[in-house]
Amino acid sequence: MLINGEWVGAEEDEWLPVYNPSTGEKLAEIVNATKKQIDNAVEVACAAFESKEWKGFKPHERGQLLMEMATYIREHADKLSELECLDVGKPMTQARNDIEAAARYFEFYAGAADKLMGDSIPIEDGLLDVTVLEPMGVTAHIIPWNYPIQIMSRSVAAAIATGNAVIVKSAEDTPLTADALAKGFSESKLPKGIFQHVTGLGANAGSYLVSHEGVDQITFTGSVQTGITVMKSAAESVTPVTLELGGKSPNIVFQDADLEKAAEGVKNAIVQNAGQTCSAGSRLLVHSSIKETFVNQLVEKFAALKVGRGIDDPDIGPILNKCQYEKVLSYLELGKKEGKILTGGEPITVEGAGGYYIQPTIIDGVSHDSILAQEEIFGPVLTVFTFEDIEEAIGLANQTEYGLVTGIWTSNVNTAHYTASRVKSGQVFVNNYGAGGGVQMPFGGYKKSGIGREKGFEALNNYVQIKNIAVKYDM
Ligand code: NAD
Repeated sequence: MLINGEWVGAEEDEWLPVYNPSTGEKLAEIVNATKKQIDNAVEVACAAFESKEWKGFKPHERGQLLMEMATYIREHADKLSELECLDVGKPMTQARNDIEAAARYFEFYAGAADKLMGDSIPIEDGLLDVTVLEPMGVTAHIIPWNYPIQIMSRSVAAAIATGNAVIVKSAEDTPLTADALAKGFSESKLPKGIFQHVTGLGANAGSYLVSHEGVDQITFTGSVQTGITVMKSAAESVTPVTLELGGKSPNIVFQDADLEKAAEGVKNAIVQNAGQTCSAGSRLLVHSSIKETFVNQLVEKFAALKVGRGIDDPDIGPILNKCQYEKVLSYLELGKKEGKILTGGEPITVEGAGGYYIQPTIIDGVSHDSILAQEEIFGPVLTVFTFEDIEEAIGLANQTEYGLVTGIWTSNVNTAHYTASRVKSGQVFVNNYGAGGGVQMPFGGYKKSGIGREKGFEALNNYVQIKNIAVKYDM
């Protein structure tokens, strides 16, 4: 862990193993942080935040520090990509894209650091009323295992750009790129204690950190269940939380869509990172008149996908661990009982690899009330539903407790805009899905997909207080 600029090991000799999902081999051991160590990190962050040194950093100088980090990431891109690939199991090309996105977050918020301004508000003659934006103080960032470096970079860069002191708790399964970024920060001109990295189990280190009285803001990215727990504990101290949670996002394919482009988009939206993506397009809603043709196209594409070890850069890597794998397999069993598997549906052995692999799968014929339509499967599994008209499509799209992303595929501008205006999700993509990552686009959820927005200028609001100052002057 990086606490107060020092590398810190386990206090009570409690180390946690980290495995390579592609092979099952042990990669590293991390500290299961004690309460004392978390107390220390929070105390250090409070002092660093209040220090003259950090307050003396001008906004553009904070920006320069972030730009230095972007350069660090680019200079170490090969090593970082390999670490992310080994740690998460994701194919090398996808790991490289994640490293590029991480650098882009640092660049984006580096540029924003000196462009965040308050207002002047006209009240009356003889009174100057202004708002100033001040940092929150100590911000805690809880990171999930599926996109570690991207998710960490997007909130950490925004929090430092706005002048906060940051504590990151990486996911116990995938802490390696957080550790590598900690090294970058420790070698930069950032004052000690403005960036710290702690590790450990969510139920110990994570839970203790988010309930700490010294923490002024929490950004949590992870599952709905843990998000609710975090929010409840934050309520005790009235600490603001940004929650980036799960999804069950639909791709809606209308009969006038370019079917080849739509099939490619629908496939990519579910197989990226083996479907272990919050914004995975896990439901296909397709017009009944084109269902057969479209689904046949998809089956062909799925059957051609290569599953393998991340390092060999296949289309689909392994599932993170045994627990996740068994969860996905139980959904597949349910799919066989309730409906029909059109392709895939089985675990798969990859030669020379000890990880947990699953065939890319399409399930048809289940009811939209089924948990296959309602719950995040977090595997390369697409479930198909049909609709007869636009209202039915919108109704189905909105019929889950999530609301993260919607894909709309049509050549009719009215269909596109009307559907976009009616779906309840934080992002809508028309004739594409994801727009290449979208560092600049606000991202977050309706309903149980979360509270607040990450990415883009919007995210900066998570990390500032607004202070109104009214100055009366004599005339
Ligand atoms: P998770 O909720 O199990 O864990 C996320 C993080 O929370 C980990 O660091 C974990 O250690 C920590 N944690 C666990 N219990 C905690 C507690 N009581 N208090 C504080 N921290 C605790 O989620 P996961 O399995 O790592 O990630 C997968 C989930 O994350 C999926 O639901 C996915 O959709 C979601 N996700 C959302 C986004 C988004 O931006 N909306 C992005 C990626 C993943």
